[in-house]
Amino acid sequence: MFESLSERLGGVFDRLTKAGALTEADVVTALREVRTALLEADVSLPVARDFIKRVQDKATGAAVTKSVTPGQMVVKIVHDELIRVLAGDGEPDALKIDNPPATILMVGLQGSGKTTTTAKLAKRLKDRGGKRVLLASLDTNRPAAMEQLAILGAQIGVDSLPIVKGETAVQIAKRAKTQASLGGYDVLFLDTAGRLHIDEVLMDEVQAVRDIAAPRETLLVVDGLTGQDAVNVAAEFDGKVGITGVVLTRMDGDGRGGAALSMRAVTGKPIRFVGLGEKMDALETFEAERVAGRILG
Ligand code: GDP
Repeated sequence: MFESLSERLGGVFDRLTKAGALTEADVVTALREVRTALLEADVSLPVARDFIKRVQDKATGAAVTKSVTPGQMVVKIVHDELIRVLAGDGEPDALKIDNPPATILMVGLQGSGKTTTTAKLAKRLKDRGGKRVLLASLDTNRPAAMEQLAILGAQIGVDSLPIVKGETAVQIAKRAKTQASLGGYDVLFLDTAGRLHIDEVLMDEVQAVRDIAAPRETLLVVDGLTGQDAVNVAAEFDGKVGITGVVLTRMDGDGRGGAALSMRAVTGKPIRFVGLGEKMDALETFEAERVAGRILG
């Protein structure tokens, strides 16, 4: 399918002089291959451009020791820079759920895997942390989505807020908060409505819900296969609602995960978890090393 970056660079450097230090011309040639690799991995163009510029500054003049080829040297610099961006300050991956009941607001576009991820996270907190979790769907436009969350909740043994027809998202959020407090729950998940595209109505509703729910975490769920578009979605949601992290779904697919780099670079917000399938256990904490390897191919 894809040629790995090491293979690409190996080819490039075979044609270059093997000098003792990387020359600017060597680096420029190599970085053309890196740029292609990043774009193939669905990293957005402006992010790829910035990234290349930083690597270029670091790589030019870097000493090439006997034990590595110039190609390996560039791959290492690219890899280290990828890790630096993806891992950020090494924020803790555990969700902030102190001071119960802690509310976690789930946001994202329809079809991103938001409802599935909500249930997966609930199961994780219940199984690993022994937490009492309450689920509530705010997707008033899609009764099927509300039922879907309740069905998943029943499957994993987690309570969901009874559905009352005719309520607005804000009314449901208020009722859920009250229920979470009275019921002695540790964590409340609010699964907000998704839309096919970002629109004003959706953002206004999410903002209104956020204002009354005062979430400890606001997680944006993004389909890892969406590639270039992910960066706009992340920037928009972060700007309007303020996210605390991202969950990248469908990383079990063919996607190369470039969206992770783009979203991280543009919003500065950490990728917290990755979805690796439809099953309720198919969720892992984000590991920069793994995703970096995937982006490089
Ligand atoms: P929502 O509209 O954002 O709430 O999306 P759903 O949670 O209903 O998910 C849409 C579809 O994607 C469902 O068929 C899920 O099973 C599937 N899905 C969710 N997360 C993943 C994932 O990490 N990997 C795979 N392969 N499928 C997923």
